[in-house]
Amino acid sequence: MKYIGAHVSAAGGVENAPINAHQIGARAFALFTKNQRQWVAPPLTTESIRKFKEHCEKYNYLPQHILPHDSYLINLGHPEKDALEKSRAAFLDEMRRCEQLGLDRLNFHPGSSLGKVSDEECLNTIAQSINITLDKTTGVKAVIENTSGQGNNLGYTFEHLAYIIDRVEDKSRVGVCIDTCHAFTAGYDIKSEEGYTATWNDFDRIIGFDKLMGMHLNDSKKELGSRVDRHHSIGQGLLGIDVFKRIMNDVRFDNIPIVLETIEPDLWAEEIRMLYGMINL
Ligand SMILES: [Zn+2]
Ligand SMILES: [Zn+2]
Repeated sequence: MKYIGAHVSAAGGVENAPINAHQIGARAFALFTKNQRQWVAPPLTTESIRKFKEHCEKYNYLPQHILPHDSYLINLGHPEKDALEKSRAAFLDEMRRCEQLGLDRLNFHPGSSLGKVSDEECLNTIAQSINITLDKTTGVKAVIENTSGQGNNLGYTFEHLAYIIDRVEDKSRVGVCIDTCHAFTAGYDIKSEEGYTATWNDFDRIIGFDKLMGMHLNDSKKELGSRVDRHHSIGQGLLGIDVFKRIMNDVRFDNIPIVLETIEPDLWAEEIRMLYGMINL
């Protein structure tokens, strides 16, 4: 079964996210558990946590269909010590928020070398950041997202993700989230039928479908291999509609949160309906 949703607003409190998801007909959702543009946020209140769990139960959202996303400020591969410590502290706080909410996974972008260290060194730092955080927490998995490879961002190849996973001590608590726009702009031709087959064969060989803990479903404004991350609404960008039809009918994407991060929130309800409508019964 497919669990499709969107990255919904948690304005006014995390407890509003499941309500917002329900209103657009989502069976899964993503959210920020704090303001994503600020380093520190007040702790979640007991009341907010209680209501979040209550609303998830009311609208049938299980933890495995919820994909919280961390702050964009965090860089777990930061080449400078003080900034790295700041990122690690913020990431730990994000993990603890997920623990408090009873969630089982946290999605994040691996990090950037900022052009100051080698890719290898940066990937090692990212793995170390994950190990440190997993040691201090329980139950929440670290879900690394593939990137477009814009600037000095790492994680744009399956090999990068596998390299990090290899160095994570507790393999049972690490996984990946694949973003269709990021994969395409990083150079994976998922648009054509042959490219789709080849890409997912590579994914399975290099990372493994058992590590796939979420998907971001986005069309792309930028072309294959452009290394530029610009999302578009489903079917309106350069990816077109066929890749989404293939994904909807591919059992390898069953039972994980599939989340829209498309650019028009007003279209989410329609996009979700359209995606469910693509499934051949
Ligand atoms: Zn994404
Ligand atoms: Zn993106």
